[in-house]
Amino acid sequence: MAVNTPGAVGEFELIEQIAARLSPRRADTVLGIGDDAALIAAAGRLAVATDTLNEGVHYPAWIRPADLGWKALAVNLSDLAAMGAEPAWALLNLTLPAADCRWLAGFLRGFARLARHYQVDLIGGDTTRGPSSITVTVLGRAPERPLTRRGARPGDRVAVTGTLGDAAAAWHLLSAGEPCPAALARRLFRPRPRLAAGAALAGIATAAIDVSDGLLADLGHLLAADSLGARLDLMALPVSPALFALGWPDAERWAAQCTGGDDYELCLTVPADRLDEAVARAAAAGVRLAAIGTISRAPGIACVTPGGGRWTAPDLGYDHFV
Ligand code: ADP
Ligand code: MG
Repeated sequence: MAVNTPGAVGEFELIEQIAARLSPRRADTVLGIGDDAALIAAAGRLAVATDTLNEGVHYPAWIRPADLGWKALAVNLSDLAAMGAEPAWALLNLTLPAADCRWLAGFLRGFARLARHYQVDLIGGDTTRGPSSITVTVLGRAPERPLTRRGARPGDRVAVTGTLGDAAAAWHLLSAGEPCPAALARRLFRPRPRLAAGAALAGIATAAIDVSDGLLADLGHLLAADSLGARLDLMALPVSPALFALGWPDAERWAAQCTGGDDYELCLTVPADRLDEAVARAAAAGVRLAAIGTISRAPGIACVTPGGGRWTAPDLGYDHFV
């Protein structure tokens, strides 16, 4: 519905700007932005996910609009990646304090870059006035055997794509006003959804989740789905050269890797005898897959130090209401 947007531009100019910047390209998009509903030609099973980013909670007010546009779509595509699904369409609900064409142009630049890369058509949304908040909904084709949080079995190996802790380290440095290496800032502001890896590992992995709130928190959700536990080898946590170069003490690096959010890697469980195959498939999809632990019957996550001792994380990742 229409709102009285201050300034020369109104809701409809903003929508026109969005529609012009992101015209549909897919053959299976029958009708995009501009009518009361979009029409898509979708046969079979669709995977559908939605995520909201709120200013001051999920992103700072000073974030560059292009980074926000990218990230709002990326965090949603990461959910499809965790199901092994192939993205196709997106909806964008924008709540903004004022109509600002320049801001929107930047936002759409980041959003469109990622959308084009994955052949995602923006087919609709809503535009309203209020405190800054962005909700994206994505739809994609589910694979024959979708990955879900359920399905891990005792003895399965726990594996993660890419590296962990970079986004948390970037956020730590930026909020302390310290210089932040570009490689780390990129992980925070331009996360790359692991879509190719998710699709490649559907059919091999027994369960999967994307790491948005921190490894221990998200692995905890996966384990809770089957009332299982895990033993993690802290030495095996994949660390990027940029994070390693910060020279942080082990415990601080582990905290970033285990409890820092925003990595958007995939955490999967794989039958031990198919680990090599999974690593090879991930490599063919362009990402390293590291085995970091083993699923156990005993509930809880035991983090084992290089010396064989136990390490307890300072907190368990992000929860909006505690
Ligand atoms: P209605 O009043 O029927 O909800 P709107 O005026 O809100 O219609 O929207 C008009 C068209 O513009 C619809 O196709 C809607 O999906 C699309 N739209 C509105 N806001 C956005 C947005 N932020 N991103 C993409 N499409 C949008
Ligand atoms: Mg509307």
